[in-house]
Amino acid sequence: MSDKGKLVVISGPSGVGKSSIVREVLARTGAVFSVSATTRRPRPGETDGREYHFVDRPTFEAMIARGELLEWAEVFGDYYGTPAGPVREAIDAGRTVILEIDIQGGLQVHEKHPQAVFVLILPPSEAELRRRLAGRGTEANGSLQQRLAKAAEEIRTARDSGVYTHLVVNDDLERAIQEVVEIVTRESRQP
Ligand code: 5GP
Repeated sequence: MSDKGKLVVISGPSGVGKSSIVREVLARTGAVFSVSATTRRPRPGETDGREYHFVDRPTFEAMIARGELLEWAEVFGDYYGTPAGPVREAIDAGRTVILEIDIQGGLQVHEKHPQAVFVLILPPSEAELRRRLAGRGTEANGSLQQRLAKAAEEIRTARDSGVYTHLVVNDDLERAIQEVVEIVTRESRQP
């Protein structure tokens, strides 16, 4: 992969507000969203090819076998992975590409592309994360207790790794968006 464009990895526990932040950052910076493949079912309002490429397990496993994924992980029994081709093409075209992926995936990207930019979105507190996760009311990705435990473990792993050098606390959505916009804009300008 060339160094023409920038690869930005945005991670954080589920319920932290990552998707809302990423949506606005894309709109304000013109960065390209990397559409992941997943074996989980679409949620209401999600469109194949926009939020995710929704595929079955054999299709996903074939993508792994053919080496088509930049990284992949299994989260609560479903596969998630980043198709490498579109990322490579966008970077070669000089674009900034945003990967909204979990921390296991982020660490795999770091092994291949240590020059990428790693942003970790954090909840203001564990109590606030619990409130947001409970408010979502979806048990599809594990129980509330499971998701809280995974969140705490993910934050620990990300911090211990030293890979995520940009930490953004989502206590105020607009402020968090602006912080990420600044990171993306600044990094995109760097050669
Ligand atoms: P959700 O099912 O709520 O959309 O996503 C569940 C988790 O999977 C989130 O933490 C999300 O960031 C992560 N995720 C989404 N796409 C990918 C991917 O391509 N690779 C990895 N490793 N994680 C992903």
